[in-house]
Amino acid sequence: MANKENKHSKNVEGKWYTTDPDDDSGEGCIACNVCYNGAPDFFGEDDDGNAFISKQPSTDEEIELCQEQLDACPVGSIGSDA
Ligand code: SF4
Repeated sequence: MANKENKHSKNVEGKWYTTDPDDDSGEGCIACNVCYNGAPDFFGEDDDGNAFISKQPSTDEEIELCQEQLDACPVGSIGSDA
């Protein structure tokens, strides 16, 4: 489960977030490309290739798309419980 105490600083405010790559718990983003390739309207890429939420999903379809990225993230770096 993503650590909401260590969010990426570029996340837009809202329920969805990604965690900082330096998260000590080991759940930080490893810049694997999955989420911002899978849902580029909602996940951005910072200068180091790490992901952040650029837009919060609102419709059921958008939430489902983001949930797919959450489920696919290899390190549990995406959360939706902020
Ligand atoms: S899927 Fe996870 S590890 Fe990969 S870029 Fe997105 S947040 Fe980072």
